[in-house]
Amino acid sequence: KTAVEITTEALERIEAVDSKVKSFLQVTADHALSKARQIDHKIANKEEIGFLSGIPIGIKDNMVTSGITTTCGSKILKNFVPSYESTVTQKLQDAGAVMVGKTNLDEFAMGSSTENSGYQTTANPWDLSRVPGGSSGGSAAAVAAKECSVSIGSDTGGSIRQPAALCGVVGLKPTYGLVSRFGLVAYASSLDQVGPFARSVEDAAIVLGAIAGHDPKDSTSIKFKVPDYTKFLKLSLKGLTIGVIEETFMDGVEQEVSNTVQNAIDHLKTLGAKVVNVSCPSFRYGLPAYYVIAPAEASSNLARYDAVKYGLREQSDTLLDMYTNTRTEGLGAEVKRRIMLGTYTLSTGYYDAYYLKAQKVRTLIKEDFNTSFEKVDILVSPTSPTTAFKAGEKISKPLNMYLSDLMTIPVNLAGLPGMSIPCGFDKKGLPVGLQLIGNILEEGKLFQVGYAYE
Ligand code: GLN
Repeated sequence: KTAVEITTEALERIEAVDSKVKSFLQVTADHALSKARQIDHKIANKEEIGFLSGIPIGIKDNMVTSGITTTCGSKILKNFVPSYESTVTQKLQDAGAVMVGKTNLDEFAMGSSTENSGYQTTANPWDLSRVPGGSSGGSAAAVAAKECSVSIGSDTGGSIRQPAALCGVVGLKPTYGLVSRFGLVAYASSLDQVGPFARSVEDAAIVLGAIAGHDPKDSTSIKFKVPDYTKFLKLSLKGLTIGVIEETFMDGVEQEVSNTVQNAIDHLKTLGAKVVNVSCPSFRYGLPAYYVIAPAEASSNLARYDAVKYGLREQSDTLLDMYTNTRTEGLGAEVKRRIMLGTYTLSTGYYDAYYLKAQKVRTLIKEDFNTSFEKVDILVSPTSPTTAFKAGEKISKPLNMYLSDLMTIPVNLAGLPGMSIPCGFDKKGLPVGLQLIGNILEEGKLFQVGYAYE
């Protein structure tokens, strides 16, 4: 098939299903077709083309795309057209991938269901009355609904892995610093990472290969020779030790999720892996530490939306009124809640009690992981305590919503790679995800285990 034919098929699929699924905030049909034509032209002229040439891809709308509106799911950036391209989308373009649209998200990536989007709630393709997870729910649903082959999300506390689990697709959060954050709109900078969604582990490995690597434009980017991740796919699991994190099978995890994940772990045993139990006692402090650290960083990062530099501006008589009115109009309830929380915990007198303490907890969590990785190659847990929940069920109970990321948050706090792979269904027919956690820069082992499992 030509690139134009593949792109047209993706656009037709979007046309057919997206009024129901609502994965996309914007479909970039003209952009996509023109890129596809360029690829076909190159092929006709026998010019070299990239290894993702003609592959339709969805991009979470918090990655800036030059000349193409980037909203972050926020009303405050409704008309924001960036003048530059993020490193990740540039690398994807260089590899020939064709962006078909910008996907929906919780406003500024704060949420676990896409219900905090300032524009629309995405539906879970497995049951349209349920949420796809979040914050990268649009990217996860788009891949699950076959609106694009692969997509890109961002993960600060679980926003790739949790929606991947709830939508029955593969989602990977790479090691902090492996993928450039240049052009990813910042939420909590010490936790944010960009990664792929795919319908197979192999596809995820290929896309990670395209986006990973050192970037001088991101000061936290690691200098590391990116391996060919597809080389890990066919390795046997013999000799590999997998650690099951005991604390992740505690109260609050749905019984069917727990059973399905246990079955998946048994299957890994039959594939030759040695399975042992490990304890990470500090794991359970991850959630409270995260909800101090992430809002603190967000309150600072979001100070830039001041009606002067970007997006929305509410006309007012004084400068202070302009700030206040613009932020009152342009930002949603969850974002405001976090700005207030973060501003509070960073205030004089409270910093030591909250922010500093949370950073210490972060160190304890890292130490737990370090101790575990002396004994095991990878760790496993459920990705999410529940399968997809009904839209509306948790939106008025932020603390319940926050629990969605119980299993994924410690991985961000430690900067480790984590991948969710589909591992079965509950009795309602909703997908369950298995989380694989690797040591720093050991994405290869996640692909090895994930591929063998598939
Ligand atoms: N759900 C978490 C939050 O609301 C994680 C979000 C994310 O990873 N971007 O902050």
